[in-house]
Amino acid sequence: MITKNNEYDVVVIGSGAAGQAAALTAKENGNSVLMIEKGRHTGGSANYSEGLFAVGSYLQKEKGINVSASSVLKEEVEYSKYKADSRIWKKYLDSSAENVKWLHDEGVEYEGVQAMGAGEATWHIYKGFGDAVIHKVLQPKFEKIGGELLTSVSAINLKTNYDGSKEVTIKDEATGDIQTIKSKVVILAAGGYLNNAEMMAKETDYDLSRLIPVSSGKGTGDGLRLGWSVGGQKAGTGMAMLFGGYLKDPDQPSFKMMESQMNVAAGQQPLLWVNENGERFVDESVIYNFSFAGNALYSQNKVYSILDSSIIKEMAENGNFMGLGVYVKRGQKMDKLQTEIDEAVAQNKPYIFKADTIEELAEKMNLPKDKLKATIDQYNSFVEKGKDEDFGKDSKYLRSVVKAPFYGFKLNIGAFCTMGGLKVTPENELEDQNGDPIKGVYATGNDAAGLAGDTYGPNMPGTCAGYAFYSGRNAAQNAQKYLK
Ligand SMILES: Cc1cc2nc3c(=O)[nH]c(=O)nc-3n(C[C@H](O)[C@H](O)[C@H](O)COP(=O)(O)OP(=O)(O)OC[C@H]3O[C@@H](n4cnc5c(N)ncnc54)[C@H](O)[C@@H]3O)c2cc1C
Repeated sequence: MITKNNEYDVVVIGSGAAGQAAALTAKENGNSVLMIEKGRHTGGSANYSEGLFAVGSYLQKEKGINVSASSVLKEEVEYSKYKADSRIWKKYLDSSAENVKWLHDEGVEYEGVQAMGAGEATWHIYKGFGDAVIHKVLQPKFEKIGGELLTSVSAINLKTNYDGSKEVTIKDEATGDIQTIKSKVVILAAGGYLNNAEMMAKETDYDLSRLIPVSSGKGTGDGLRLGWSVGGQKAGTGMAMLFGGYLKDPDQPSFKMMESQMNVAAGQQPLLWVNENGERFVDESVIYNFSFAGNALYSQNKVYSILDSSIIKEMAENGNFMGLGVYVKRGQKMDKLQTEIDEAVAQNKPYIFKADTIEELAEKMNLPKDKLKATIDQYNSFVEKGKDEDFGKDSKYLRSVVKAPFYGFKLNIGAFCTMGGLKVTPENELEDQNGDPIKGVYATGNDAAGLAGDTYGPNMPGTCAGYAFYSGRNAAQNAQKYLK
């Protein structure tokens, strides 16, 4: 037998943000709880997350930050073109401050609250990334109070019975052993399908050759598949949380975040971008919403960013325009940038091109020479005039491209996770094809639909991890009512 028992009150599938919050809450409510994790390590993509969303939290109040819940609700639902569910957002917003406090009371420490890009200060940064939240706080507490956790064990099948019980078939990934266990409640928290190429091709329109999944690598769509197999309604597929330009290093596993200053200088700045024809195509300050930037990059077949030596020096001395989360902070002095660039050139990395003239750069990047030269001449004339006559970029981001050597970077598009797949009620209970709840089966975190349209909303940073913690707790609290 893989498990200690054959029957549980609650089985939680997945041990990321949503799974851990669900399992601990269900255990604190006095249930027998089994949390299973298919990987050897727990935490999923939540390990890499930096902070969670809230409005009206004690941390925001301490700092005098006032972001109104009603304005966030309006913005998020409009941003999703009303594809998000206002009821789900309202409940999430109303619980968000308490969510931050609950984590704090359990033992999570915060570094502070901050904004991202052009957004609001809703991002509650925890100390030690999500890894510390999970491995120093939630999981030890769950185990201490008697919760059962199994790693390297996958849920491979789910069945609902007429008497209301559920059967979960699990597989020990090390031994291949299979076991079917009974549970009154099942909480799906398996983290979406970003790492399942077949599902991504079927459920989304993204060009997968340009999409770089930067995540745990374990979001293989199992939660969605299990939920659909018991009649759960499909909803909200088709979107991934894109994040602007990203360099693809073939010598590194794609799931490993490229934390270099070079990656941030190349892919996250409101500087010059050109497409495969050597033409500008957008106001590059779109990067202040990194998900919009991902969409903009997809609108062209290929995209390159171009930096001259002056801007590299400026960013080293004065700091970047835009960071990448807390990995490379906004305004951070890019003191390692030139060294990282030199190393990448010396190693002949395929994403970087160096040249002494624009013509030579065009040749190396296989772009039309005359066109690239004309684009850069025109861009430089906009800088002189202090006016972007093509796309209206704010003049504070205009910098001449004049000083050799010049560098070109081939940009791909990073993605952190998918969001959606299973239609849920505001209680996070699965809905069947008629919209009726499938009693006792819940979907949470990245498996649940209702939070987003086709594009993530980074203007309110932290909503994805915040929702994962919140929805895990919400599911467990509502499961308690169901169990009673
Ligand atoms: C680098 C990075 C930075 C991020 N930063 C932020 C941030 O600062 N703020 C924010 O809001 N969001 C952020 N995100 C997104 C955030 O991490 C996710 O929204 C969040 O982790 C989702 O939680 P989850 O529990 O749904 O999934 P996950 O945390 O991915 O957990 C899912 C778990 O389920 C397991 N699993 C899958 N299938 C099975 C199965 N069949 N049986 C058992 N277990 C299974 C997986 O192995 C995994 O451990 C970031 C993501 C990345 C990758």
